[in-house]
Amino acid sequence: MSQDIFALVEHIEGQVSESSFELIAMARRLAGQTGGKTVAVVLGQDVDGITAQMGAADRVLQITGPSVAHFVPTTYVKALAQVVADRTPAVMLFPNSAIGMDVAGGLSVKAGVPLAAYATDVRMENGKAVVTSQIFGGKLNAEAEVNGDTALVTVIAGSASAAEGQAEGAPEVETMAAPEADDRISFVKLVEPEAADVDITKEEILVAVGRGIGDGDDIEIVEELAEALGGAVACSRPVVDAGWLPKSRQVGKSGLKVKPKLYIAVGISGAPEHLEGMRDADLIVAINSDPKAPIFSVADYGITEDLFDVVPAMTEMLES
Ligand SMILES: Cc1cc2nc3c(=O)[nH]c(=O)nc-3n(C[C@H](O)[C@H](O)[C@H](O)COP(=O)(O)OP(=O)(O)OC[C@H]3O[C@@H](n4cnc5c(N)ncnc54)[C@H](O)[C@@H]3O)c2cc1C
Repeated sequence: MSQDIFALVEHIEGQVSESSFELIAMARRLAGQTGGKTVAVVLGQDVDGITAQMGAADRVLQITGPSVAHFVPTTYVKALAQVVADRTPAVMLFPNSAIGMDVAGGLSVKAGVPLAAYATDVRMENGKAVVTSQIFGGKLNAEAEVNGDTALVTVIAGSASAAEGQAEGAPEVETMAAPEADDRISFVKLVEPEAADVDITKEEILVAVGRGIGDGDDIEIVEELAEALGGAVACSRPVVDAGWLPKSRQVGKSGLKVKPKLYIAVGISGAPEHLEGMRDADLIVAINSDPKAPIFSVADYGITEDLFDVVPAMTEMLES
C-alpha cells in the first residue's frame, strides 16, 4: 500500500471543473497526513493543457489514448482499475458529480475496494481514511472509517478550497497508454443545452422555486415576486423534470452555478445538489414550512411559513 493520495481530474471540452481543484487541495492536505504524494490523474487524448493547470500536485498521471478521448464510464473504470491494482493509493478522490459517481461506483466493484460517497471531509487516522458524509439529503452527517488498502471517496463540491488546488508548480508528469475501449458503452455526441431566454448566472436577484410549489400553474406567484424585485425566476431540478420551467433556469449540480446578490429559495428543501449551485450567493432567504429543511443551514434569513401566504404578501408589500 502506498501513502499517496490520488485525485481524478474531471474535464470536459478542455475545461477543468472547479471541483477538481478542490480535490487537489484536499489530496494535498491528506498527503500531508500520510507523508505521501499528491497525484492528479488526468484521462484524455490531448491533455497537456489540462496537465499544465495541475501545479498544486506533486505528480500528474496522464492516461492518454483514443479510447479516453471522451468520457466513457466503462473505459475510465477499466483504466483506473489497473491504476488502483498497480499503485494502491491510500485514498483516491472523485468529484461527487455524475462523472465521479459513475466512475467511483464502477471502480469500487471492479477493483474490489470500498467507496464512501457524498463526503464533505476526509482525514487520516491510524493509516485509515475517516470520511464524513452527508446522508438523508444533507439532514444528517455520518462518519465512517474505511477499511482496506485503498479508499475511494466521492467529495461534494465546495468541501475544500479550489484556490488552494490551483497553485503554481511543476509536477512530475508520467504518461500511461489508455487501455482498449470497453465498448459496452460508446460516446456518441455532446448535447448542448438549448439557448436560454434569461441567463440566470448574470442576474443579481433570483427567486428560485422548488417542488414545494406543488403545481406548475402556481409558479405565477413566484414570477410576480421576481418581477416586483426586478429579478428573474430560477428553480430546482424537480421543477425542470416536471416540465414547469426550462432547463436553463435550473440551479445546482446538473444545472447552473449562480452567485446573485439576493437568492430567495421558495419551497426548496436544500439538497446538496441544489446547494452546490447557489451557496455562494451574497444573501440567501429561504421560505420553507419545514423548519428542519437543510436549506436553512445556508440561509441568512429563514421564513418557516406556507409559501402561498408569504410570497403573495411579499409581492404586495413591494408593489405598494
Ligand atoms: C446527480 C444528481 C444531480 C442533481 N442535480 C440537481 C440540480 O442541479 N439541482 C437541483 O435542484 N437538484 C438536483 N438534484 C436533485 C436533488 O437531489 C433534489 O432531489 C432536489 O434538489 C429537490 O428539489 P426541491 O428542493 O425542489 O424538492 P423537495 O426536496 O421535494 O423539497 C420541497 C420543499 O418544499 C417544502 N414545501 C412544501 N410545501 C410547502 C409550502 N406550501 N410552503 C413552504 N414550503 C413548502 C418542503 O418542506 C420541502 O422542503 C440532483 C440529484 C442527483 C442525484
